[in-house]
Amino acid sequence: MHHSQTSTKFVVLSSYLQTHIKFIKGVGPNRAEMLGTHLGIITIADLLSHYPARYEDRSRIFKIAEITDGVSVQLAGNISFEGWEGEGKTKRLKASFADDTGKIELVWFSGGTWIEEKLKEGGRYILFGKPQLYRNSFSISHPELEEAEQYINRGASGLVPVYPLTEQLRKRRINSKTLSDIIRNALAMQEFGLAETLPYDILHRHSFISKSEAIRELHSPTRTDALEKAQARLKYEELFYLQLRHLILKQNNKTNYKGIIFSSVGDNFNTFFHHHIPFELTGAQKRVVKEIREDMRTGSQMNRLLQGDVGSGKTMVAALAALIAMDNGFQTCIMAPTSILAVQHFEAFSEFLEGIGIKPVLLTGNTKKKERRQTLESLADGSIKVLIGTHALLEDDVKYHNLGLVVIDEQHRFGVAQRAKLWNKGSDFVPHILVMTATPIPRTLALTVYGELDVSIIDEMPAGRKPVKTVHRYTDQRGFVMDFAKEQIAEGRQMYVVFPLIEDSEKLNLQSLMSGYDMITQYLPTPEYTYSIVHGKMKPDEKDHQMQLFKQQKTQIMIATTVIEVGVNVPNASMMIIENADRFGLAQLHQLRGRVGRGSDQSFCILSTTHALGKNAKTRMKTMVESSDGFHIAKVDMELRGPGDMDGTKQSGILDLKLADLKTDEKLIVTTREDAEQLINEDGTFSQPKNIVIKNELDKIPNRTIWSKIS
Ligand code: ADP
Ligand code: MG
Repeated sequence: MHHSQTSTKFVVLSSYLQTHIKFIKGVGPNRAEMLGTHLGIITIADLLSHYPARYEDRSRIFKIAEITDGVSVQLAGNISFEGWEGEGKTKRLKASFADDTGKIELVWFSGGTWIEEKLKEGGRYILFGKPQLYRNSFSISHPELEEAEQYINRGASGLVPVYPLTEQLRKRRINSKTLSDIIRNALAMQEFGLAETLPYDILHRHSFISKSEAIRELHSPTRTDALEKAQARLKYEELFYLQLRHLILKQNNKTNYKGIIFSSVGDNFNTFFHHHIPFELTGAQKRVVKEIREDMRTGSQMNRLLQGDVGSGKTMVAALAALIAMDNGFQTCIMAPTSILAVQHFEAFSEFLEGIGIKPVLLTGNTKKKERRQTLESLADGSIKVLIGTHALLEDDVKYHNLGLVVIDEQHRFGVAQRAKLWNKGSDFVPHILVMTATPIPRTLALTVYGELDVSIIDEMPAGRKPVKTVHRYTDQRGFVMDFAKEQIAEGRQMYVVFPLIEDSEKLNLQSLMSGYDMITQYLPTPEYTYSIVHGKMKPDEKDHQMQLFKQQKTQIMIATTVIEVGVNVPNASMMIIENADRFGLAQLHQLRGRVGRGSDQSFCILSTTHALGKNAKTRMKTMVESSDGFHIAKVDMELRGPGDMDGTKQSGILDLKLADLKTDEKLIVTTREDAEQLINEDGTFSQPKNIVIKNELDKIPNRTIWSKIS
């Protein structure tokens, strides 16, 4: 390969990397085809970017006398075949494997014929596998075996890469070791060499090893510390380019889309701000409003994520932003994921804006035809200043006079495509976008998942809020819990009882909710106690009706499935019982609990479970009892579940991270973000010679995409 200065293209499309894998020793047309079909590996570049999923430490050879049940070990010994047993599906080949301390059994349920042919009776082998205790003796099924002599000649280090593979490949006898051997052969080719993909000043700043070294070490580790160095460099690279892409996207948005300039803060805002806010804004709310104001007068489009724990007062921030739009002659729309929430926003906005004589308008799927027609007219002629609604706002006939600000509450329920649909509705301009979420996202995750958005965080609760007292009670303590509920209700408070959703079955949901209701009424009988019931199968207006009864304190107890999860605001409700609390994830429990503790009274949350709890569930209960900090809870949640499971990350491509781990590489994420920002500031077009590598890297279309388009 040539490190040619004049032809950078040539470096990128180096012939070594573009070599078809069938030219690697040990591959051949058959294996090449299988690797292509099942793993998308066509070229050496593809092969080298198929990273090990983990490593097994085989620095030690165990004795048979030392093995324990279920713990993978490496053994050295001699094999002797015992022949076939069973018929049909249970037909299996058996062998025994012995060293000077004992003997175990080996079993093959498939591929036995091949094993019998290939392995030498009485031969000495190095074995790797997981012993399982069965009737007082150990056996290993489908062990990995390598001739002892070959093992010694290979000079194997203790660390063995384990590659992700498909079941079909395993069936065709391409296992992790096969792949490892092939990759080693590719690394041993004379032409081996990889173009550097990070600029030298960054390599220097972090004392990174070269790309070639790193890739070699990753696939064929020599020592633990050297492997760690390789991983550090490659992880950095992965995150650095991710951040760089986010920042470029952000920059492009800024240059490509003309944002409306909201130059003035006018009468509406000022009058409201100084005379009509019923409380003192928190410092965090003030700061965030300022950030939004700054964004909206720059001339580029605002794309901001507003994060704030449940009850932190995001609605007020949205209202203030809407007033700025209004003061500049533009309309605002606010979109909520459910009609209950839309109605609630509508009520909150109506109340807030009453003092300055502005009437927001509600548009949902329930809006009557005639009313809807009128609304659309007033929207088009500009007489509506603030429109609040659900997905109904996305319908084609909803046309604005001049939409200046879009507020989206709870972004997880709106897909990216839906966001874009709203976007196109601004006639001549691109409206500013404010996305609000109550799901606390740890900073690292926000930087990686929403890296192209600006992020504002409300990290302060309104003064005087008492944290919700949370306890974990078992179902056999229900009598005490209900006595306490009676006391609360006697004091005029209201209570939620929440049941988990049963996945994929509306029918079962309803059943469990109704039997839950029957159970509760045994303690708190009707008609002495009054109930609202809300569940997913209800028609929207029926749901609204039940909600309204509860809000207006006409009912005392709300029985619900998780439909109340987001946003419902009933300050007088001071108690929540979460049934089968172990069926909920931490983030969900935290959201649910946020429904109480909205007033000035002490509130209570009771997590009800049976005694049969797994370790993970116990941790969740304990975390909820001990903490009311959404960010802390989100962090524990991420540790328990892994970031891949977190809301909103699935579509975002975050699972494509090959090496970096959001749980453990927090520091690195921040570092790469800072480095990427610095680089963009210094050389946003990547035209300095040292940054040409960056340009090349960004221009690269992943090989896989090219090939899949061709074939
Ligand atoms: P969320 O961030 O969960 O959407 P809301 O905007 O619904 O929270 O606010 C929760 C409650 O707190 C509302 O009743 C709201 O009027 C009130 N609130 C908002 N900001 C403040 C504040 N600075 N001081 C006191 N109460 C506030
Ligand atoms: Mg809210």
